[in-house]
Amino acid sequence: MPIITRKIELKIVRLTDEEYDQQWKYLYQINNTIYQAANRISTHCLFNDEYEMRLRLSYKSRYDKINKGLENIKTELEKLNTKKKTSDKEKRDRLINEQRQLVDERNELDEDVKNKKKDFFQCSKQNSTYQLASKEFLKYIPAEILTDLNRYVQNNHNNNKKKVKSGERALSTYKKGMGIPFSIKPQSGLRLFVKEEGIYLKWFKGILFRLEFGKDTSNNRCIVERLIESDKQQKGKGEDYVANNSSIKLIKKGNDKSTRIFLLLSIDIPAKKQVLDKEVVLGVDLGIKCPLYLAINKNDNFKMQIGDIEHFHNQRTMFQKRFKSLQKLMCTQGGHGRKKKLEPLEKLKEKERNWVHTQNHVYSREVIKQALKHNAGTIHMESLKDFGKGKEGYVKDEYKYLLRYWSYYELQSMIEYKAKLEGIEVKYIDPAYTSQTCSYCGERGERKKQEEFVCTNPQCKRRGEKINADFNAARNIAMSKKIVKDN
Ligand SMILES: [Zn+2]
Repeated sequence: MPIITRKIELKIVRLTDEEYDQQWKYLYQINNTIYQAANRISTHCLFNDEYEMRLRLSYKSRYDKINKGLENIKTELEKLNTKKKTSDKEKRDRLINEQRQLVDERNELDEDVKNKKKDFFQCSKQNSTYQLASKEFLKYIPAEILTDLNRYVQNNHNNNKKKVKSGERALSTYKKGMGIPFSIKPQSGLRLFVKEEGIYLKWFKGILFRLEFGKDTSNNRCIVERLIESDKQQKGKGEDYVANNSSIKLIKKGNDKSTRIFLLLSIDIPAKKQVLDKEVVLGVDLGIKCPLYLAINKNDNFKMQIGDIEHFHNQRTMFQKRFKSLQKLMCTQGGHGRKKKLEPLEKLKEKERNWVHTQNHVYSREVIKQALKHNAGTIHMESLKDFGKGKEGYVKDEYKYLLRYWSYYELQSMIEYKAKLEGIEVKYIDPAYTSQTCSYCGERGERKKQEEFVCTNPQCKRRGEKINADFNAARNIAMSKKIVKDN
């Protein structure tokens, strides 16, 4: 399975100042001891290996003797078998008896070595390093973290063993500032979840982190949301994202050298089995009448509308009403400071943004689903650079509002990143005339109404027919060769 790693800033959700200070103290305490624990575990790993080596060496001469004896008996028995003389029966019986004795002796030695190891490790070899480290560090580091650290250091140790032996690399040492490993498990206390407008990570000691995505150019938010979604659903469909080897890191950054917290999230994404056809292009038209319309260059019968503009407008009106009543309410209430007054408005705005964001998620997911269903290896979308520009070159009002409000940019970037994860290539095309050109003959036609396109070319097989204007545009987009470099 391919693995992707994401780095996301975390902010502690502040409750009281006292708790906030304690939680920072707790983080520093782990940060200041974790590397020492790692080095200790690493040394113990080495020590365990050396112990086993010594044990092997101290028994070597006895094992050698037994093995040599067994080999000799084997060759003599083979000789006797080829001769097949009845007079050798006595000799053969004696040899077999000796052989049995030697095997018993070897089993005894094995048992001996086993017991010595048991005495030494007190438990399994893997567990022994944890036991030792916990005696020293459990008062600073939670057991779950130590367990993950133990596994991490052991894996490192075992993977590097050969190279250390051959001198290609030195033993690993761990430095202050290394990541603090932990496992995100939906069932346990450590989990990621969505609440209202944010995504949170519940951690040890009741620490609650809020994930800060910033500008989020690499779509981390979408990936984390998909991860949370995978956790909620039943496992085993092979489409799930699985978090493994997560860690947090304290990093001093900026001019003031203040400490910031980062989550390093490593996620298994399912391998793609489907090989898609790059020549099959799914065209995505972003419109005013319906948010998205899909068509495919090589399949005339496929058309699909995604989303419902009515629903969208209703939601928008609802939000606007709530805005107005909130504003009214605040005018009638005097007293409080301006900042405090604006807070509920800001919250409502965020809620609205969040609604659009969720909607874009649903839409983009559907686009990818359709692309996969029709084996489309390429997706075409209109470049938003000249999106909605009229003949005179200015952006029409209804488009302006969609661009800004509906955030088509976000929708496109979601489609793009989700496509990438599926191995689908996304190309942007020049949007000029996509809605005024007939997708069957390539001649200019008429978009009589917003929803209807009619071709007037006498040679066209679809001449005079009323074609769904969005479908026609989506077909043009799918078939377009006018690829633009930057969106
Ligand atoms: Zn035509």
